Parts: sequence; structure tokens; C-alpha cells
Amino acid sequence: MTKKVIPLIDSRSFLRPSPPPALPSILETPTGLIADELGRPLHDLRISVTDRCNFRCVYCMPRAVFDKDYAFLPHTALLSFEEITRLASLFIAHGVHKIRLTGGEPLLRKHIETLIAMLSALKTPDGKELDLTLTTNGSLLAKKAQALKDAGLKRVTVSLDALDENIFQRMNDADFPVAEVLHGLEVAHQVGLGPIKVNMVVKRGVNDQEILPMARYFKNTPYILRFIEYMDVGASNGWKMDEVVPSAEVARLIQTELPMHPVAANYLGETAQRWRYADGVGEVGLISSVTQAFCHDCSRARLSTEGKLYTCLFASAGHDLRALLRSECSDPEISSVIGQLWRARDDRYSELRTQHTEGLAATRKKVEMSYIGG
Ligand code: SAM
Ligand code: SF4
Ligand code: SF4
Repeated sequence: MTKKVIPLIDSRSFLRPSPPPALPSILETPTGLIADELGRPLHDLRISVTDRCNFRCVYCMPRAVFDKDYAFLPHTALLSFEEITRLASLFIAHGVHKIRLTGGEPLLRKHIETLIAMLSALKTPDGKELDLTLTTNGSLLAKKAQALKDAGLKRVTVSLDALDENIFQRMNDADFPVAEVLHGLEVAHQVGLGPIKVNMVVKRGVNDQEILPMARYFKNTPYILRFIEYMDVGASNGWKMDEVVPSAEVARLIQTELPMHPVAANYLGETAQRWRYADGVGEVGLISSVTQAFCHDCSRARLSTEGKLYTCLFASAGHDLRALLRSECSDPEISSVIGQLWRARDDRYSELRTQHTEGLAATRKKVEMSYIGG
């Protein structure tokens, strides 16, 4: 019998209505160079397009909480494609040049390719194309890859936590087979949705024995494997520090068989530390969100499924931009609100967590990953 997980905190308290952000008295013209309280620019926007998912990954949507009685958002609560595109263009004017669609499972959102076509038509103020990407569990990728590419999606990141069938199914808790994710990857590669990254969340005692098999398998493929430390997102996954496998341990383990060395980041604010194999064939990324926090470079804003702006993955509350969109505010008004909120941003939860370890993780009210988007 599965034990019901009792969340420490009401895991849906973040859905309660809160007053919309106040309009500033003076409207600003965006410069594309905005910086927050800690001097961090606004480069990256993650948009959650659905809070639903066909998987029940143990570290994200444990079945005991996200069961048949769980109240997902009604369709009317979701931002429409027009609303998302309007907000995206306002964020782009403030400096965003990368947009990632996520969720829940973004490929479950009906007609997602229509949204992609609308977003891919947007340009940065200097006339450049957006870096438009999407994170998916891969279950619908084989079916949708061509349509996504045709609509203007540049690339995808695919999550895969194990190659061993039993371990993968224990992780996704939805009986979904490994072979179908691998097939999705292959089709995405064939249609040109690369470079493709593969995300593996490592949870000690659950899939850590898959670190080496995953490294061996992906070494000679066009895909870049990234190991992600299991994080204390939300209030339902029962996170414990001792279930985190530190990236340093992952690197040491891979080195026992496949020598590799660290290489420079591609750009400032890149979340993964890059390691290249010594024989020159392939690289991996290590995302040390828990053991080596990278808040000092974090330039990511997150838009929840129902249009709340979160300035941190671990924020306790979001700012209701949907209320502004639906109350006939003008673009300059909403743009000024976004500017005001970003300038006031001082989030650095992971750095503080490193100082206080589990104490902070257990007591703070946090939103669910499936709602805010990974
Ligand atoms: N459903 C899609 C997927 O799984 O790729 C997109 C949404 S998912 C929330 C985005 C990413 O967050 C995935 O790579 C997932 O593995 C990761 N993730 C979810 N919960 C996590 C946790 N507690 N710690 C670390 N990564 C997590
Ligand atoms: Fe779904 Fe992605 Fe969360 Fe897994 S990690 S439950 S696939 S949203
Ligand atoms: Fe960014 Fe918040 Fe994560 Fe720090 S904890 S890296 S500020 S999202």
C-alpha cells in the first residue's frame, strides 16, 4: 500500500487570489537593460503552459498528492495564447531573449504549435530571433516534433531519469516505457530540434545506479546529458537533503570510468557546469542547484500557468499579471509593472538554503514545480 504523503504546508495555498500588483505612477520606457536589486539582468522567461501531466514523477507530482481528486486549474484560469504572446513581447522589451515553454507537460496543451508560431514571430529589440525552446518528458515528442519544428521551435530538452525500465517506471509512476522517450529523442533530432539536452534528476536510492549507464549511453550520441540535483521545490515531494546526490559525487563516479575535465560556460548565467570527456567525444552538464547555488547569476523570470510572475523557483507568492491583462491595462502600464517587480527582486533562496540546509526547505511556503514550470 502506498503511504499518503502529508504535505508540511498546504501545497495549493499559492493559488489563493492575491491583489494584483499596483500600477506605478510614472510609466517607463523599457531599455532592455533592466537589473534587479542584486544587479542581475532579465534574460530568460520560463512559461508554464499547463499544470497537468501524464507522468507522476516521484520528485515532482507524487501520485499520493496529485491523485484523481487533485483540482487542476480550469481552462478559463489559463493564460490564452494571445495573453502569453502579449506578455512575452513586454518581457522581450525588458531584455528577455530566451523563452522556454514548460509545465506540467507542455505538449499536453492543445494546439501548442499555434503558440510556438506566435512566439517565434516575436523579435528582440535589435531584430534578433528568440531562443525558443521547450522542456518535455518526451512522451508525445515523436508525434509532435515535426509540427513543433515547422512552427518555429528551435530546440528541445527532454527529461529521462533512467535507462533501466523498472527504475524509469518507478520514477515516472505512469508505466511509461524508456523506448518511447528514446524514440521521441531520435525523431526530434531528425527534424532538427537540436542541440538536444537530456535532463536526469538524480535521487539517492532511487536512480543513482543509473548515473554511469546514462553517461555511457549518451556519450556517443548527439545529445548532451545533464545531471540535476534533486531539489526541494514545492511542498509535496517530501524532500530530504540526504536524498540529494551532490554533483561533485556524480562527477567523481563518472571519472572512475570515463575521464573528463571541466570546460568554460557557454554564456554568463548558464546553470550547468560543463564537463568534456578527455577523449574529445561528448560532454555532460552538472546542475548543482542544491550544493553549489548559482543565484548570483540567475536571470530567469517564471510565468505560471495562470499568469503569475514568479521571480524565483522557490518564491512564496507570484504577482498576478493576468489580472492586469484582463482589466484592460495598457502595454506601457503592464510593462512598467514588470520593470518595477524585476528591479525589486532580491531572491536567492538556494544560496540561503545552503546556509540553513533543511530548516529553510521545511518551513517556507513554496509553489509546486508543475504549476510554476521547471
Ligand atoms: N514535464 C516536463 C519535463 O518533465 O521535462 C517539463 C516540466 S518539468 C517540471 C521540468 C524539469 O524539472 C524536468 O527536467 C524535471 O525533471 C525537473 N524537475 C522536476 N521536479 C524536480 C525536482 N524536485 N528537483 C529537480 N528537478 C526537478
Ligand atoms: Fe510531469 Fe515533468 Fe513533473 Fe515529471 S517532472 S511529473 S514529467 S511535469
Ligand atoms: Fe534563481 Fe531562485 Fe533558483 Fe536562486 S533559488 S537560482 S534566485 S530561481
